[in-house]
Amino acid sequence: MNPTLTYAIPIVLVLLFGTLAYGFYAPRAEAFGKLYFATKTPDKVVALTFDDGPNEPYTSQILDILQQHDIKATFFVTGKNVVYYPETTRRIVAERHVIGNHSWDHKVLQPIMDVQNLDMARTQGIIEKVAGVEPHLFRPPFGHKTPWQIEQLKKHGMVMVTWSVSAGNPGQPVPSIIAQRIVSHTKPGSIILLHDGNETSHGADRNNTVAALPLIIEILTREGYTFVTVPELLKVEPYLH
Ligand code: ZN
Repeated sequence: MNPTLTYAIPIVLVLLFGTLAYGFYAPRAEAFGKLYFATKTPDKVVALTFDDGPNEPYTSQILDILQQHDIKATFFVTGKNVVYYPETTRRIVAERHVIGNHSWDHKVLQPIMDVQNLDMARTQGIIEKVAGVEPHLFRPPFGHKTPWQIEQLKKHGMVMVTWSVSAGNPGQPVPSIIAQRIVSHTKPGSIILLHDGNETSHGADRNNTVAALPLIIEILTREGYTFVTVPELLKVEPYLH
């Protein structure tokens, strides 16, 4: 083989797989298409988001805290949990928070295997049936993305939203650590990821997130931040209709 090729082929392969892995895994990667992980703004505004719910009693506790502080947030729900908790789903909408689609059952291989993204459509269906709204926003489970999934979203007039600040919540750190990780990385325009559920596990313990939330709100408020929903932050519609 030509000696140049001997070096070039492995380099090209490494670059190719590196790009694919980055596009698939990194929440901010736009290698496969447009997504939103934050917005550029000089204003001290941020969006709180809660994933994998509804999951009681934690989602209701979070809604109570948000109500006390008069803050609107964005909840990325799974279809399966909407079936478990229709009343909570309706409360989210009734209290003028925003609901986004977070797949039916949070399967790790869904973005790869589900070429038509039927899972997303099924989840849209149950959210509309239960809460009367059809989300404009989709957040991929684990932040894993594929080109065909982004293409399907575009076809349906939806947008993909990931995040720019996360506490690594699935590991359940203590409340002060969750709060510290969030506030130390927050900037104007951040989309903050928290969890009221844990994939589809029913009643998954989110006590630490609930306890961290007032700390996050207090510290960021003191620093001059205000809280908006993701559609308000991105200046997009919350729902398709
Ligand atoms: Zn999730």
